Amino acid sequence: MKVTLIGAGPGDAELMTIKGLNRLKQADVVLYDRLVGEDIISIIPDTVEKICVGKHTGKHPVSQEEIASLMISKAKQGLHVVRLKGGDPFVFGRGGEELEILYENNIPFEVIPGVSSPIAAGVYAGIPLTHRDYSSSLHIITGHAKKNGQLDIDFKRLAGLNGTFVILMGIASLENICTGFLEAGMDGQTPAAIVENATLKSQRKFVGTLKTLFELSQRNHVVSPSVVIIGAVCTLSDKLGTL
Ligand code: SAH
Repeated sequence: MKVTLIGAGPGDAELMTIKGLNRLKQADVVLYDRLVGEDIISIIPDTVEKICVGKHTGKHPVSQEEIASLMISKAKQGLHVVRLKGGDPFVFGRGGEELEILYENNIPFEVIPGVSSPIAAGVYAGIPLTHRDYSSSLHIITGHAKKNGQLDIDFKRLAGLNGTFVILMGIASLENICTGFLEAGMDGQTPAAIVENATLKSQRKFVGTLKTLFELSQRNHVVSPSVVIIGAVCTLSDKLGTL
């Protein structure tokens, strides 16, 4: 009886860790999210039960409670359960919440990190997230609005930092995010980029400025999953981007 929480990385199967891959091959059952790349799912042996818990059944995604109870019941049957998540399980992945439930239910667990999408998007788009000439800090921020529609971003404090801002889940609220930074006094000419489907064959990259980014995204019909990067480091993309 054991649950292994594994970060599958951002999509390119070769970015998965050897440790994660080894555990995946030893699993009895794998519960995976929508963001886990198809190439990774295809590595799982046919003898392993595969359950997608990220698919929307009707309009509703499988709830966190349902996922937790599935993990617990499978583990209590004596099975080795792998919980496979996109990117890293502890970066906006609810990995912590799921482990707390396992802890409360006395189910042994281990966690294996994965390459998180902000890190991979920067590399695959030729944008070093830090660079001594351009940025002195790196901030990974959720662009997911709260229930009342408000963003949980302290634009005023962030705008005053000489940093790189990477926003996950930010496409639906991109206009408000850009406006938030502009109204907080950030220069409209600040370089900014979007990396859609980072590391996958379908990757697209758009580079503009804080002022033009939303319009750029609309014109190109940018979809999720995408990473938004705001900061002077985005200017390096032309020089360092190989894709
Ligand atoms: N745990 C994940 C993040 C989950 S939140 C990680 O560490 O990467 C989901 C958000 O991650 C998406 O809305 C998107 O902003 C980002 N994301 C995940 N995979 C991505 C990819 N391949 N390309 C671009 N963004 C991605």
